[in-house]
Amino acid sequence: MAAAATPAATPVAAPADEQSFKVVTEQFADLRVLRYQVPGFEQLDPKQKELLYYLYEAALAGRDIIYDQNYRHNLRVRRTLEALWEANQQRMASSSNTQQVDQAQKLNVYAKRVWFSNGVHHHYSTRKFVPECSREYFAELVRGVDSKSLPLLPGESVDQFLAAITPVIFDPTLDAKRVNQEAGQDLVKTSANNFYQNLTQKEVEDYYAKKINKKDLRPISYGLNSRLVKDKSGKIVEQPWKVGGLYSPAITQIVYWLGKAADVAETPEQKLALQKLVKYYSSGDLKVWDDYNIAWVHDTKSRVDVVNGFIEVYGDPLGYRASYESVVSFKDLEATKRIKAIGDQAQWFENNSPIKPEHKKKNVVGITAKVITTVVESGDAAPATPIGINLPNATWIRKEHGSKSVQLGNIVEAYDQASAGGMLDEFAYSDEEKQRAKQYGSLAGKLHTDMHEVIGHASGQLNPGVGTTKETLKSYASAIEEGRADLVALYYLMDHKLIQLGVVPNLEVGKAEYDSYIRNGLMTQLSRLTLGETVEEAHMRNRQMVAKWAYEKGRKDNVVEKVQKDGKTYFRINDYDKLRNLFGQLLRETQRITSEGDYNGAKTLIETYGVKVDPAIHKEVLQRYQKLNIAPYAGFIQPRLVPVEREGKVVDVKLEYPSDFAQQMLEYGRKYSFLPNAN
Ligand SMILES: [Zn+2]
Repeated sequence: MAAAATPAATPVAAPADEQSFKVVTEQFADLRVLRYQVPGFEQLDPKQKELLYYLYEAALAGRDIIYDQNYRHNLRVRRTLEALWEANQQRMASSSNTQQVDQAQKLNVYAKRVWFSNGVHHHYSTRKFVPECSREYFAELVRGVDSKSLPLLPGESVDQFLAAITPVIFDPTLDAKRVNQEAGQDLVKTSANNFYQNLTQKEVEDYYAKKINKKDLRPISYGLNSRLVKDKSGKIVEQPWKVGGLYSPAITQIVYWLGKAADVAETPEQKLALQKLVKYYSSGDLKVWDDYNIAWVHDTKSRVDVVNGFIEVYGDPLGYRASYESVVSFKDLEATKRIKAIGDQAQWFENNSPIKPEHKKKNVVGITAKVITTVVESGDAAPATPIGINLPNATWIRKEHGSKSVQLGNIVEAYDQASAGGMLDEFAYSDEEKQRAKQYGSLAGKLHTDMHEVIGHASGQLNPGVGTTKETLKSYASAIEEGRADLVALYYLMDHKLIQLGVVPNLEVGKAEYDSYIRNGLMTQLSRLTLGETVEEAHMRNRQMVAKWAYEKGRKDNVVEKVQKDGKTYFRINDYDKLRNLFGQLLRETQRITSEGDYNGAKTLIETYGVKVDPAIHKEVLQRYQKLNIAPYAGFIQPRLVPVEREGKVVDVKLEYPSDFAQQMLEYGRKYSFLPNAN
């Protein structure tokens, strides 16, 4: 629910003064590595910097956890690649044997892909990828390094190690998918994540059907912080991730740094929240997790903020277990004014929404919207990052205490700078469309995210007695929820209210977003899939569903037109007002599905419009995209915080911008490797 996973590729021109900072550092496979700036850090006071530093260390201390959560062999794979890195670099540098240089380069790319994805499965498609170098080359390198540097299990020989690790790395059919969402299959058994052991989907579902009390108005987030295992006696047990439980060595470090952070908190509310987070990590008690979230929501006055915990459940096909992540930030005071102007009007937006009256919230509670400047990200939030966050996820806490909605301003800025140019020229139909995107695209993209997070997710209510969407809409819940939030944003982007509020100069901004959304949903996002694949990721499903539904339903009025020009396909919007009306209708329908818990409605909508790919269009997009030579996914090198100490006290903190992705990953591997190879 929280994250707009990636921006909808709105290309805009970079302002000239920002071009001195190198945003794009390198590109390999389907990935680009970018950097972001942290404007305003120097102006923070020393206490705030000290607090940020402790939160930064806490964030990175948990990095190993995401590897192990994603797949039980990931830490071993990563450590193997770290151990081989130097020897492989030497082979890349020696030019005498070109075949060997080629092999070395291929392993080099593989290592960087593993770092980028926090494991052997693609961060987005969750499919396993394998190195293009030979097994022989890999084995030769392994045998060539000091065996003490290899992640051997107790008593394991190098040969045994090779026999075990080679298929894990090289066999694409072994544990082929991290998160399998394909209808009709056992989603637990066919997903390679490390959230369940020896269990079938049915056993898990039965376990929670018995455990969850549907009448509880304030349910804990069942399963959020544990692995579920069937032990040798056939008993199903939860293994919580906590101090003294699973991942204890890493969590103990997190707790240490959070404790130091609590000592220098800016406000009593922030101190209380951090103390509760420490208590939660120490006890594993999900009731305390709820207490923490309530305290966190009420901490609104602090400039510095942090997300640290097991947060999003996208990694679990059943949506119970959450991935470790951390985002450390401080408020961007200037940009927050824009998002606040929208948040302050939440009730107006709710009242004027095209959804049915009985699905409207009478009182939209406590929306805290802000733009933040990111300082560091870790776990599931890095190197690939969300651009917006809306937490907490527990519905009842959001209802009773509100939520915090943030946009990661400096990350969005970096994306905008990195994506200037090519895509827009290739896929936009007319000069008018291109001009509009250049002038308003950046603002349009930011506003879309603002409204998606601030009023989109907050809008609407469930009918009495209807369970959460996780229970009712099951595997379609995320795509419907993201679609609903997008539709709220799209509907209001063409509303005069935004001009009145002073957040847009005119409705050209809305048109720019409509152009971009249709372009992306019907064409450009397909560049992320290989031929023959269907759409699986929730955000991609929702974007295609929304765009395709509007295209199909508007066909008789030619609202969105498919045009051919010079042998290329384009989608041109002929009538923005009618398109807005269609978005309104679909918003009403997705809200109805949500409010009623209409599983079949959700299934039909997503399966009809969100999943299938037109192979001809897909092929064309891939061909046109390939010519541009832009990798479709981006992630970030993190800034480095260096404390300045005097007499054992942190008196200042320096912020540096490393520029080499691999070096940062190796540095993290040395500094933050707290977990054993097998957990
Ligand atoms: Zn969202």
